[in-house]
This record gives sequence, C-alpha cells and structure tokens, in this order.
Amino acid sequence: MSCIFCQIINREAPASIVYEDDLAIAFLDIEPVSEGHVLVIPKSHHARFAEMNPKTAGHLFEVAHKILKAIQASNIPCEGANLFLTDGEIAGQEVMHSHLHIAPRIRGDKHRYGYVHAEQSDYPRERLNQIADEISKLLNP
Ligand code: AMP
Ligand code: ZN
Repeated sequence: MSCIFCQIINREAPASIVYEDDLAIAFLDIEPVSEGHVLVIPKSHHARFAEMNPKTAGHLFEVAHKILKAIQASNIPCEGANLFLTDGEIAGQEVMHSHLHIAPRIRGDKHRYGYVHAEQSDYPRERLNQIADEISKLLNP
C-alpha cells in the first residue's frame, strides 16, 4: 500500500493521533503551518473529495468541529483557525488521500492566502446568477 495516510490508518507508519472512530482518524501534520495543525482523514481511501460518500464527507467536519473545540480549550495558541481542503493537484493537494486541514491561527503569524479576488464589477449579478444556475441545476437533492 503506497498511500502514506492509509499506512497511518493501518499503523504501518507513525503518526501523532488525536482522534479516531469507525469512519475517520485525525493526527498532527508532520510539517505544520502552525502548532496544533491537524489533518482529519476518512478511513476509506478516496483521492478526491467528491469521490467520498457524502456521510463521510460531512463526518470529517463533525470531527473537525470537536477537535477545534479541544484545541481552543487547550494551551495551544489559537485565536482563530483555517479549516481547508485541497482538492486536486491544481489546488495544492500533495497527498492523494483526501483530507481536511485544521490550522490554528494567531495574530502576526504572517500566513497569507494565495487567492486573488476579482472586482465585483467583473461579476455583475446577472453573471453570478448564471453561474449559480449552472451549479444548482446539476445538484442532486
Ligand atoms: P495537502 O497539500 O493538502 O495534500 O496536504 C498534505 C499534508 O500532509 C501536508 O501539510 C503535509 O505536511 C502532510 N503530511 C505528509 N505526510 C505526512 C505524514 N506522514 N504525517 C503527517 N502529515 C503528513
Ligand atoms: Zn489512502
């Protein structure tokens, strides 16, 4: 099994585990962006987020919610946090076993997002509505 996260699940690779249940496991990132940086992963191997069963996908957020509360109650510096998921190489995904990041934030930590926002004038309401339709018509209830 070449997936490092599956190896962690199977205890074939070391990890500092903070939480585990039937569907998910969470452990500290080996190269944290901040102290207390946790990864929450499903126990089933899915390269991409949309390949996951929706219940499992939702469960990752439930687990992240629990863990963030624990971090906030701990001595780990945490004035806020970024919860994020990189989906696909283009989005910066390096480990192809989909996972949710929890990265505590403190004032002055100098983290920056790599996003560039368009001006509102580039996306008039008509265009936003077209895009919303494009997505919503393909949503399964
Ligand atoms: P991503 O770029 O979203 O795929 O994030 C992958 C994350 O996994 C990075 O933050 C890595 O530091 C982390 N990582 C890679 N290998 C390990 C490992 N063996 N144990 C813990 N974290 C890891
Ligand atoms: Zn895997």
